[in-house]
Amino acid sequence: MTATIDTTERTGVRDDRRYLEELEKRVLFFDGAMGTQIHAAELTAEDYGGVALEGCNENLVLLRPEVIERIHEAYLEAGADVIETDTFQGSRLKLDEWGLGDKTLEINRAAASIARRAADRWSTPERPRFVAGSIGPTGMLPSADDPALSKITYAELTDIFYEQARGLAEGGADLFIVETMVDILELRAAITGINRLNRDLGRRIPIQAQAFFDVGGRMLLGTDIEAVMTTLEALPGVDLIGLNCGTGPEHMREPIRFLTEHSRAKISVIPNAGIPINVADKAVFPLGPEDMARDLAEFVNDFGVSTVGGCCGTTPAHIAALVATIGERAPKERIIV
Ligand SMILES: [Zn+2]
Repeated sequence: MTATIDTTERTGVRDDRRYLEELEKRVLFFDGAMGTQIHAAELTAEDYGGVALEGCNENLVLLRPEVIERIHEAYLEAGADVIETDTFQGSRLKLDEWGLGDKTLEINRAAASIARRAADRWSTPERPRFVAGSIGPTGMLPSADDPALSKITYAELTDIFYEQARGLAEGGADLFIVETMVDILELRAAITGINRLNRDLGRRIPIQAQAFFDVGGRMLLGTDIEAVMTTLEALPGVDLIGLNCGTGPEHMREPIRFLTEHSRAKISVIPNAGIPINVADKAVFPLGPEDMARDLAEFVNDFGVSTVGGCCGTTPAHIAALVATIGERAPKERIIV
């Protein structure tokens, strides 16, 4: 018995092409930040499993699943078509930092099934809702010369991502979103790991690959948008290419324009609510829902971006504004040169 059959029987999940088919028909909206909403829930150390685990958002899927489910609900209610699992730091390498590495499969499986439950509750035949299994960076920098941060082999990294993706697939994820990646080699390792999983499961769960750019339009080690696109397009299995986190939409405009003019993949954009400013020692994200929606509407209407959503500092109000501003529309046809 394979995980495919388990998942399908338990959740009635559609076939793996459904997300991509829906993207052909209409622009889809991702949810907003998970961390911001967890912070707003004002949890105690006990909720996280004790003082030593305070701040481990991933452990909440085991200990306070209803808190996470409520956050998913709030985003679905705001109009999100796609909700992301609470697993951004759910790789074994990140969970090991909390002593939770052995729970990697359990945490990812649980996180995906919480999101699955919420998404299924909001799904209709006309408007399916999707679960994106969130896979973030491990904290290693395989491309760097740094002896500590690059001390991992490519094969080891692919195993790390394979394991996380397996938990997410078993919990019912419709797609994988590999996001906030600062190192192109790590991004590639994640895709290689997922491709191997898909092969082993006999499935073809879509992959949305997203890089993190600084205000200068580069990844941490200098990779620019052209290099990102070239690398990702050379890999099998990558369905969407995009950017998330790092900056607000304004700094993403040119790299996104480049992608929409040159890439054969569909394009995704999930910016922060601007670049945070320090107010009384607290990071405040300056971009309000309307301003963010206006910028992203331009990316959709003028450039032909397929899916938009919000990263750090965004809230259900940001997603509601996006949905209201962009509305239901087919993706703009792009001319690839
Ligand atoms: Zn972010």
